[in-house]
Amino acid sequence: MKKNILFITLLITGIVSAQTYDFEADSIQIRKIYTEALTKGKSYDWLNYLSNQIGARLAGSEGDKKAVAWGKAELEKLGLDKVWLQEVTVPHWVRGEKEEAHIITQYGNFNVDVCALGSSIATPNEGITAEVIEVQSLEEVEKLGEKVKGKIVFYNRPMPAEKIETMQAYGASVDQRYSGARVAGKYGAVAVIVRSMNLKIDNYPHTGTMSYGDNKENEKIPAAAISTNGAELLNRMLKESDKIDIKFFLKQHCKNLPDTVSYNVIGEIKGREFPNEIMVVGGHLDSWDLGDGSHDDGAGIVQSMEVLRMFKNLGIRPRRTLRVVLFANEENGLGGGKGYAAEAQKKNEKHIVALESDAGGFTPRGFGFTCNDKNFEQAVAWKNLFEPYNIHIFRRGGGGADINPLKKDDNVMIGLRPDSQRYFDYHHTAADTFEAVNKRELELGAATMASIIYLFDKYGIK
Ligand SMILES: [Zn+2]
Repeated sequence: MKKNILFITLLITGIVSAQTYDFEADSIQIRKIYTEALTKGKSYDWLNYLSNQIGARLAGSEGDKKAVAWGKAELEKLGLDKVWLQEVTVPHWVRGEKEEAHIITQYGNFNVDVCALGSSIATPNEGITAEVIEVQSLEEVEKLGEKVKGKIVFYNRPMPAEKIETMQAYGASVDQRYSGARVAGKYGAVAVIVRSMNLKIDNYPHTGTMSYGDNKENEKIPAAAISTNGAELLNRMLKESDKIDIKFFLKQHCKNLPDTVSYNVIGEIKGREFPNEIMVVGGHLDSWDLGDGSHDDGAGIVQSMEVLRMFKNLGIRPRRTLRVVLFANEENGLGGGKGYAAEAQKKNEKHIVALESDAGGFTPRGFGFTCNDKNFEQAVAWKNLFEPYNIHIFRRGGGGADINPLKKDDNVMIGLRPDSQRYFDYHHTAADTFEAVNKRELELGAATMASIIYLFDKYGIK
């Protein structure tokens, strides 16, 4: 009876010719996966350890080394067929002492919260004091040209609030953080401060990577993020600049050390029928240094590990080879993702599916797929299986920074799509801590990942 109801429902929705898939068996298996994740899941305990015992783990740091050793040891406990490390070269940037910044006026100094951007150089020991010029875009600096000389350029274009997907709002603003110093440095600015990538008004500065491109040594200038509260204050004061004399003081101590090594941590269950068809689930093991990287991307790490743990525990022997990859160095160089794809290419490995979780450990809503029409249609045909779990986004476009180098014409890249509304409350800040992750939401994400992997494993790609 149950079978008939499901069959009829799926036929009515008209999205599938029912004979292709065994929906009854699949819905039972997916139910087991969700039950396992929610009642016997390990993801939250793992995250507790990674966040609270290891903590921040920027590439090259002690935390990064500890996280690699921990990831390997935990995967070894799962009884996988193989666990190994893959060495990759990574940059080694350190923040040093906490940054200082204030707005200087004739009425006194006003402290604001700032943090150095990853890869930035330091200020001189005594700091930098200069006039501020506020801009909305890189183009505006290009137009101003030499007028920014000797000044601190303040990029203050907010993330566009009207965008529903906060990742898109981020994408619309982050050029200021990534390239702001490169552009302003060419015209002789002495530093840049960038409005934090945050939709909320609060005191957390948001770090993140930046690049000097091919600027000459003397065109490299210190770059910092300022909290949205700080940015609003500075903006208000600059509007009164006929009455207030404003200068800005910035001091930061960060340093670029010589490149070092880190590792992708990889575990594998060999496929019983098609061992040469590889499916990857992963996230990135490194994190920024201000918080403990629980959402970004501790959540994706433990969810990916949980996928393989559940396959083992539920006795699902995959038809295809299933790998978990804890990628190194996503945040400031993508060394892990690039290194993994290069090795795969060299060994002529065939990756048919890769799924990444790197959008926070929030309630899962669905997936984004980058693939051909046939594979997308196949995924959409499975949509009703996810309906009981409130998973409804099956959209084109998606993947992840670590897995994108694996993209080929005929394979499938998938990004887990959690609810994104609160992600930028935490992203790259001191607020990204274990307490900010909800156990149940994290576990639902792991189950959602395992379920789509179960289906691709069973039916393959088109
Ligand atoms: Zn991330």
